[in-house]
Amino acid sequence: MADVMTNLLVLNWIPVRSPGGLQQISLQTLLTSEQQFHLALPRDDMELAALQLLISLVQVIAPAIDARDLRQRVKTPLAGDEYQQWSDNFADSFDLQHAETPFMQVANPNTADITPIQKLFTGLPAGNNHAFFNESGEIEAICGGCAAIALFNQASNAPGFSGKHKAGLRGGGKINTFLAGEHLRETLWLNVLNRAAIEKLLPDAKRNELCWIDPIKSGEIIAAQTIGLARGLFWQPLRLKLESSPRLMTCDHCGYSSDIAYTGFRCEADFKFEVNGQWPHPHSPRVWNIKNEQREKERYMSFNQLVPGWTQLNQFVLSTDKPRAGNARAPVVDHFEQVFLEQTHDKMVVLIGGYANKQAAILERRHEVFSMPSNWAVNQRWLVTAIDAALAIKTVLRGRAYYFGKETGAKIQDQAERIFYQQTEHKVHELLRTFSHRKEGKQAVTDFIAYCKKLARTIFDDLSKPYQHSPGGLAQYAKDRHSLNIGLKKIEI
Ligand SMILES: [Zn+2]
Repeated sequence: MADVMTNLLVLNWIPVRSPGGLQQISLQTLLTSEQQFHLALPRDDMELAALQLLISLVQVIAPAIDARDLRQRVKTPLAGDEYQQWSDNFADSFDLQHAETPFMQVANPNTADITPIQKLFTGLPAGNNHAFFNESGEIEAICGGCAAIALFNQASNAPGFSGKHKAGLRGGGKINTFLAGEHLRETLWLNVLNRAAIEKLLPDAKRNELCWIDPIKSGEIIAAQTIGLARGLFWQPLRLKLESSPRLMTCDHCGYSSDIAYTGFRCEADFKFEVNGQWPHPHSPRVWNIKNEQREKERYMSFNQLVPGWTQLNQFVLSTDKPRAGNARAPVVDHFEQVFLEQTHDKMVVLIGGYANKQAAILERRHEVFSMPSNWAVNQRWLVTAIDAALAIKTVLRGRAYYFGKETGAKIQDQAERIFYQQTEHKVHELLRTFSHRKEGKQAVTDFIAYCKKLARTIFDDLSKPYQHSPGGLAQYAKDRHSLNIGLKKIEI
């Protein structure tokens, strides 16, 4: 039987902020209370992982629901006895220390080696990554809630521990997008797919047991489209088990006290299996190339290093059929547009997050929010135009900075690109806000492009200035500045 102390459907494990202050609450309180809660974790990536875990939990334990009932769920808290029934149906499924089927683990991995718990916190030094944000050894013992979040994040979003360990169903470092509501309960429901959407997304799903109840077999070859929604959302590619001991302690991650300390885990190396094809993860935007009118190289989107999220905004929020092929939004974004937008919600707020990684190393973590008015869709064309133009301006600027550097020794092209991105980011958000009316689209984009061009000239002037006094520097500046102008003039709407 599941234990109250370790069952995620019962335990107070969700760290939240509310008008009453900071506290840990249960999923039952979250779903059944009128109170408005917000997640409160010390790391933004863990906060997003907690959100994804909660969305996945609700998607799995809530009985399939149609669009109309889903809209009702967003408005009204769940009745306590209804939650009780849901949770009873999954009494043995989400227990961190269940004797036979522990949450996202195996009961007995075939290894005695214990890895410190910090390795589950993606990007911390014990995870063979660069030390950024935290000191080594900072996380030694954590509470059950943080263990569940870290376990889920490692399995869903992180790159593999090493070449001997598989990454998640999508591979490591993929982008997640979610819809945001005014508070956590609303946000959860906005990201739960209705019955029809699930059937459309996964028509060939055959196997839907959670991985720790029906484990992946060694050497198994799996067709991605046969994986059911619950199994895919909670895909666990590793055979591992958390190590814990009962003692009163303060969690090194969230700071709450706990009666159980999770201090490490045992994980088998070389557990091998194969998944063929792409599982249509509900939180994942995808892109592909088109060659001879055929889709090829279909892949989950990742963050390009250095490049801010807005440069990929087209792929995050635009629908596939218009105005360009080659990408698909995350299914939750499609679903939101069909079920909620203009019916219960007058704007679309998209959360975007993920890791930029190079193999096992995390280079950067990202968490961005884009808010669009409900009828922003009428300005889709203008959004595409604006982003394409800004990227073209960036390319012209970078090219000219590079040529100037070649002649004068000024290595300024990377800096030019970085400053351009920094100083356009707020303008993109401003642009989205002005997309509230069809008529304003064209003017707003014209202004935005003029701003970007002026910025490109200023950046070129500022960065080249110290080198203009070198031999031939001024003449080279005049030449490249002229070319910059010609390049910029070609970019018009
Ligand atoms: Zn904790």
